Amino acid sequence: MIKQTAGRDALGANIDAEAFAATLMFPLGAPNEAYAQYFSGRSWLAPLTAQQVPTSNVTFEPGCRNNWHIHHADKGGGQMLICVGGRGYYQAWGEEAIEMKPGDVVNIPAGVKHWHGAAPDSWFAHLAFSVPGENCTNEWLEPVTDEQYGQLS
Ligand code: MN
Repeated sequence: MIKQTAGRDALGANIDAEAFAATLMFPLGAPNEAYAQYFSGRSWLAPLTAQQVPTSNVTFEPGCRNNWHIHHADKGGGQMLICVGGRGYYQAWGEEAIEMKPGDVVNIPAGVKHWHGAAPDSWFAHLAFSVPGENCTNEWLEPVTDEQYGQLS
């Protein structure tokens, strides 16, 4: 059974998130309400820059992950992730999940269906770089099911 923190209220989750963020060199930011519909669990978003290579720090509570999604582009594009705290996963469709620990880098080409998020028992934070390209759009798909998530080692 996956350990979840769904029983905690928003205030409790925020205190935990701030305590986790205090161990990192990047800000926690605000509750990720704009994209909450595409996440299972609570996440926080801290935009770091919108120039050159738009970059944000994204923090996930334990068990939180985003839906399957695709970063589309006609040329270039895609996403690069660098773990800056905790432990989490990246998984491309049809492939084994890759564990992410601080310092680990994942390069996600445009057009690849994937998800990223926290391990069941750990907070997780990664920088997300939007690689510049032509006609970049994000397509949000179905949630990662508990069965898919439960296969993580
Ligand atoms: Mn992504």
